[in-house]
Formats: sequence, structure tokens, C-alpha cells
Amino acid sequence: MIKTDIIIIGAGPVGLFTIFEAGLLKLRCHLIDSLPQAGGQCSEIYPKKPIYDIPGFPSILAGELIDNLMEQAAPFKPGFTLGEAAVTIDKVSENEFIVTTDKGTKHSAPIVMIAGGLGVFEPRKPPIENLTDYEDKGVEYIIKDPNFYRGKRCVIAGGGDSALDWAIFLAKNNIVSEVSLVHRRSSFRGHLDSVQQVMDLADEGKVKLITEAEVVGIGGNGKVENVVIKHKTEGEITKETDHFIPLFGLKPSLGPIADWGLEIEKNAIKVDTTDYSTNIPGIYAIGDVNTYENKLKLILCGFHEGTLAVQSAFSRIHPEKKNVLKYTTVNGVTGF
Ligand SMILES: Cc1cc2nc3c(=O)[nH]c(=O)nc-3n(C[C@H](O)[C@H](O)[C@H](O)COP(=O)(O)OP(=O)(O)OC[C@H]3O[C@@H](n4cnc5c(N)ncnc54)[C@H](O)[C@@H]3O)c2cc1C
Repeated sequence: MIKTDIIIIGAGPVGLFTIFEAGLLKLRCHLIDSLPQAGGQCSEIYPKKPIYDIPGFPSILAGELIDNLMEQAAPFKPGFTLGEAAVTIDKVSENEFIVTTDKGTKHSAPIVMIAGGLGVFEPRKPPIENLTDYEDKGVEYIIKDPNFYRGKRCVIAGGGDSALDWAIFLAKNNIVSEVSLVHRRSSFRGHLDSVQQVMDLADEGKVKLITEAEVVGIGGNGKVENVVIKHKTEGEITKETDHFIPLFGLKPSLGPIADWGLEIEKNAIKVDTTDYSTNIPGIYAIGDVNTYENKLKLILCGFHEGTLAVQSAFSRIHPEKKNVLKYTTVNGVTGF
């Protein structure tokens, strides 16, 4: 049994910053994440994209932000259970919850903070019969590291920002030997500027644009070697490629979180905005996973929510102690 002060379910940016704020109050955290690495959406979906609205950083790559948050949290020695999904929360006494993962790991603490973001990630997959046979053998639903595709031929499918942004990135940085973008309509859903960039790159011959078409089949001996594209007027075309990357977004699915007796609204956990507590005393919800009036799914809002939630958690754990706000400039990081 892993024992700690606060179990944080979700090691995205919000869960990670909460370790720091809890640490300033001398509260230890242990984080659980179903993904094999920390960082949530920032690491899994867009590690190489710059973020422009983190206070004090005019621009920072999402992956770098996660590295910095890990460094900032390190003095407080957080624990991690990675690659395991939290499946149950049991309240065993007034001051103890037990969180169990799908692999049977048990964690005990008086406080649980749910920082589960969009929930367990599930990519939207196109209906291609043998698609799953090629997963991780040339079919990827998320681009984690563009260098993985260096010198390769890639077929991206999708009409939203993710598909457009990656087609632009791979083509502009001369990473791949060839990039094709397949979309079933003639117009795109993404930002106008991105659409224009893709059109310009197509004119320059750097992106092969195939619209009014869908990938309907995959071929290859043990790995992707070609895709079959069904075009509205030209019929079926077989295109040689090393990778097929369908970028149709992620399905927002709360997963096990929906079964924990919490008040759910719009696929998110309802919270009291005075301290981001849920309807179950001792359980808090912070970051993208919660909802309240005027909620914004932004990293900086999640940082604020985690900060207030740990103050409230401190009062629950130490009802006899008065918590006085201290500045890090005066007390340093571990000098509280
Ligand atoms: C392409 C893109 C660009 C973005 N750009 C910006 C931007 O410029 N600025 C900005 O502020 N925001 C941006 N966002 C939004 C931002 O990424 C989110 O607001 C932020 O990631 C939320 O952080 P979080 O920690 O709440 O959740 P997440 O980052 O979603 O992390 C939640 C973690 O919880 C885990 N989890 C869920 N359920 C369980 C479970 N049952 N057991 C174990 N683990 C679980 C998940 O695996 C995940 O790792 C962007 C998002 C996307 C997709």
C-alpha cells in the first residue's frame, strides 16, 4: 500500500504544479497516470508545439513546460504510479481513501485530487477493417516526436487543426521525404491561416493534398507499406507510404471517473469554486476535468485551481493548525 497525504489522479500540467503548491504546505503527493509518462495532453498530444499563454513565458514548447514543472516539483519528492489507470476510489474511514489501479496497485491518503483532464485518452479511429493490425507498425494516432518520421513517407488524414498543423510542420522543416494530407471534404475545419499555409505548401509541391477522398485500406507485410485511398471522382488509388497517421482528434471519455459517485455535468466533475471540492468531502477536481460557471480549459486556470484546492486540503488534514500564506521569495522553496 502506497501511503501519502494527497493522491493526485492525472499527471498532466495541473497535477504536476499541484505537487509544488502542496509541497509548500508540507503535504506529500503521489500521482497516478494511465499514460507511461507525465505531462498529460502536453506530452501526449502536442509536446513540440509552442504555448504562448503561460505567465512569464512568452513562448514555451509544451514538452519543455512539462520538464520545468517536473523540475519545480522535484524538491518535494513526489511519487508516481505511471502506466496504470485509477479504477476505484473507496472511502474506508472519515480520513482515508483507497485508490486502486487496473493493475491492482493500492494507494491510501486522506485527500484525493482528480486532475484527470479529458479522461483516459482514446483516439477517434477511422473505420478501416485491418487498422488495428498496423498500430505501432506504421499507424500512429498521435505525433509525439516529429523526428521519428525523419526521411519517411507519411500520409496524414483529417481536416482539423491537428492534421493541418502537423502537415505544415513536417513539410516546412524538411523532416519527412513526403507528406500527403487526405481529407474527405474539399474544405478544412482548421484555422484559416493554417488552411492557407497548407494550400501554399501544396502549390510549392511540399504537401500532396488529396481532398474529397478517404483512406479505406492499409497494405503491407507486418508493417504499413501502402494505403488505399478512395477518391470521389477518381476511384481507388494505392499510395506507397511508411506511415499512416489518422488525426481525427481524441474522444473525450471520463472512463472510470464517471463511476465514482461524483456529480457530473457536461462530461466533467462539478466543483465548488471556493476550493474546487466535489460533492464528496475530501475529493477535489482540478484542471480540465472539472466544470463550473465560466470554466476555461486553460493550463493557467488549472494552476490556480490546484493552488486553492491544496489550501483547503491542508485545513482538512490539519484542522487544528492555522495556515498563514508565506511567499517563496521570503522562505525559499523548502524553507517553510
Ligand atoms: C493541441 C492543443 C493545444 C493546446 N494549447 C493550449 C494553450 O496554448 N494554452 C493552454 O493553456 N492550454 C492549451 N491546451 C489545453 C491544455 O493542454 C489543457 O488545458 C491541459 O492539458 C489540462 O491539464 P490537466 O492537467 O487538467 O489535464 P491533462 O493534460 O488532460 O492530463 C490529465 C491526465 O490524467 C490522466 N488520467 C485521466 N483519467 C485517469 C485515470 N482514471 N487514471 C489515471 N490517469 C488518468 C490522463 O492520462 C492524462 O495524462 C491545448 C490542448 C490541445 C489538445
